[in-house]
Amino acid sequence: MKHFLGALAILVAGTMQSQAQKKTKDIAEHVIIIGIDGLSSEGLLKADAPVLHKMITEGAFKEKARTVLPSSSSSNWSAQILGGGPELTGVTSNDWKPNDKHMTPVAVNSVGRSPSIYDIIRQQRPQAEQGVVFHWDDYGRLLQKEMVNHYEHAATESLAAQKFSEYILAKKPMFALLHLDHVDHAGHEQGHMTQDYLNSIAKADSLIGNVLAAIEKAGIKESTMVMIVSDHGGINKGHGGTTDNEINIPVIYYGKGVKKGYKIQQPVYQYDVAATIAFIFNLEVPYSWTSRPVKAAFQGFSEPSNLNVGLK
Ligand SMILES: [Zn+2]
Repeated sequence: MKHFLGALAILVAGTMQSQAQKKTKDIAEHVIIIGIDGLSSEGLLKADAPVLHKMITEGAFKEKARTVLPSSSSSNWSAQILGGGPELTGVTSNDWKPNDKHMTPVAVNSVGRSPSIYDIIRQQRPQAEQGVVFHWDDYGRLLQKEMVNHYEHAATESLAAQKFSEYILAKKPMFALLHLDHVDHAGHEQGHMTQDYLNSIAKADSLIGNVLAAIEKAGIKESTMVMIVSDHGGINKGHGGTTDNEINIPVIYYGKGVKKGYKIQQPVYQYDVAATIAFIFNLEVPYSWTSRPVKAAFQGFSEPSNLNVGLK
């Protein structure tokens, strides 16, 4: 009996330890997000984009993730990092500015702002290196500058990718985001799904190739998870509305911990980006967020068991 209890105690302790290890082990050491403004699902699939198409083949892919409304830039870029849509964040249009009068967010931090993934990382991993390089200057106001180590605006898409690559090489950040704006420009100026629009996606593809090369050169390829995201698609020369062309956006998960050649079934929402990053790093998220991790993209995790409840 004594031996039995002793063995049981060891067994229980072993189980507890393995659970603790499972809970505290991060899925990846680095998360790199590349956001392509105005990239639609149809545009990504039709463009000459060998790097992105290879990432789809070798990673996990959600062809039609859903924007928040309006399908505008600020409401969607903010949803990704603030863990919820405009009704939660108060970022209802591109006119939003942090110090102007605007809709009150559901939850605010000490300076009156919705808590972002950058804040969560800074609070729970104070030593973490995190940064952002953005091509659209208005991206910068969506996050609290003091929360990141590196905060840089670049005038062109090529310069943005170059600065971002240099940052990765120099600092090997735990979390970093690159924003590219030129695909959105092509959509507005020449029209979505025109040859010029598709060519702009091909340009983004080659710049992303450069960033992936920088990740490899920095020696962190094997420990990095890369996400490709977009804010909205578009129709004719605009966006902001509710057509499939505007609200369907692709998400690619690629690298450390990600399933290979996997097509994600669960619905993926714009605001799920924040909780997915927190999930990778084992961080606690604010209750106010509606964001949920897209666990199905990662090895060892299944599609939600209630995926088809109510659908039959
Ligand atoms: Zn946009």
